[in-house]
Amino acid sequence: MARIPDAFIDELLARSDIVDVIGTRVPLKKAGREFQARCPFHDERSPSFTVSPTKQFYHCFGCGAHGSAIKFLMEYDRLEFLDAVEELAKRAGMDVPRETRQQHQRGDFESLYACCDAAATYFGQQLGGSRRAKDYLQRRGVSSEVAQRFGLGYAPEGWEHLKTALGSDERRLALLEKVGLLSRNDQGRVYDKFRDRLIFPIHDRRGRVIAFGGRVLEKDDGPKYLNSPETPLFHKGRELYGLWQVRQAHSRIPRLIVVEGYMDVVSLFQFGVNTAVATLGTATTPDHAELLFRNAADVYFCFDGDRAGRGAAWKALESVLPRMRDGRQAFFLFLPDGEDPDSLVRAEGSAGFDRHLEQAVPLGEYLFDEVGRECDLTTIGGRARLAERARPLLEQIPDGAFRDLMHQRLGELSGLQARVSATASATPATSSRQHPAKRSLVRTAIALLLTQPELALEVHPPFGFASLDQPGIPLLLELLDLCRSRPGIVTAAILEHFAERDEGKALHKLAMTEFPGEPDVWRTEFADAMQQLDRQASAQELANLVARKSSEGLGPEDTERLRALLRARAG
Ligand SMILES: [Zn+2]
Repeated sequence: MARIPDAFIDELLARSDIVDVIGTRVPLKKAGREFQARCPFHDERSPSFTVSPTKQFYHCFGCGAHGSAIKFLMEYDRLEFLDAVEELAKRAGMDVPRETRQQHQRGDFESLYACCDAAATYFGQQLGGSRRAKDYLQRRGVSSEVAQRFGLGYAPEGWEHLKTALGSDERRLALLEKVGLLSRNDQGRVYDKFRDRLIFPIHDRRGRVIAFGGRVLEKDDGPKYLNSPETPLFHKGRELYGLWQVRQAHSRIPRLIVVEGYMDVVSLFQFGVNTAVATLGTATTPDHAELLFRNAADVYFCFDGDRAGRGAAWKALESVLPRMRDGRQAFFLFLPDGEDPDSLVRAEGSAGFDRHLEQAVPLGEYLFDEVGRECDLTTIGGRARLAERARPLLEQIPDGAFRDLMHQRLGELSGLQARVSATASATPATSSRQHPAKRSLVRTAIALLLTQPELALEVHPPFGFASLDQPGIPLLLELLDLCRSRPGIVTAAILEHFAERDEGKALHKLAMTEFPGEPDVWRTEFADAMQQLDRQASAQELANLVARKSSEGLGPEDTERLRALLRARAG
């Protein structure tokens, strides 16, 4: 993990607002001092995900997910630690200290991104010089504004254009090969992967170019689409073409339409349907499904009506089922024979395309249509077969109303008693939110410090209780030291500090403690706890001295100490 100065992380977490960060991704509701939502990390009906604006962390009572704004970005946007820090820093208008960026091995990644970026620029320039490519786009009705928005380009005909233009030395050649822009034949000859193709740069969720798709200009020039291979930057099962552009066009995406070709995405955008994305030469994966639903609650899958399209649609359904939490909807649209989204939207415009979407089949209906094929529902055998085929599919749907409805529908179709899903009666997750159990003094002191780190400034070392032989004392001392040396530190930053240590989990649990009353009450409570700890330490020392006095006798210093302790106790 990257080493970034602790002070920077403190500052970053103090200047960011976790409610803001999470709120733009998950709808939050105010509930008392905190905010609540349905957990984005597990399937649930009632909200057990809480965000604390004062402590600047989130916690889920259902699945235990927890952490700071940094952790949230890592988990939710699937960013690496340093990317999450950079993302947050960008929002907060801060610069991540330069030297740490170089120390980190990501220097390597930075050059890969830079290499893709340079290639995208190169392809873009070539587009300007290619009559054929420009004609092609013109025939498709793609304006230069939309072409620019998608960063469209052209890879010229020939074997070594890109290689010559950008591979000026060994290092650059190696980078080009690493990001998949060069191919190597059996003889070891290296040449341009994309030749005489329209180029569609593929952006990641932060808008960086990470790969390319190339489309033939003429029908018979080889495979219609060619993609970058998997590279350190590009995992096709996790990216969606066009998602970056859709996100740029909407603050809140009303719905997402999944189509098969990159050109379809661009055409739809050109004709006013700016919510389309495409998978990257692969079937829809469960990762795709999650990514889609994280961006929009309604997802429309748009497929050719042919056999291949039907197969792809079923794969999409299988990937989507386990992600069908309540509130999410999936629809399937099969296009008329010989049509694709591009031809359709050009012929009928965006309103026409919307009309087709309205005809899309809801997931439930599509599922029963498909499993019901070749099942004669007028016979008992046919209905049993339907039930047998449908059950394993319905089992994959997360607990919730949708799952219950699907079981109910299966009951209606098969005539078999709808089986109440086993987990439907599970106790609400909030029941795990218990009243604080009786805590030890040390734990109380730690929990109070985590609630209000500045309490540490009200006590001063040396601490009498430091000698106390009790679990948690070294941790309490370390916390006091941390909070005293870094005034203004927020709870989340403390937890981040301990994130990779064994104590991290226990600290997070303690940080969840809700103390009744107001900060003034906590201050008194904290002072009390510290005093009691001091007294316990004295008592323990006293007991030790008395025991040693009778067993081995005490030297003059210890005798003096024993007297002082006895006097203090009497006083
Ligand atoms: Zn959860």
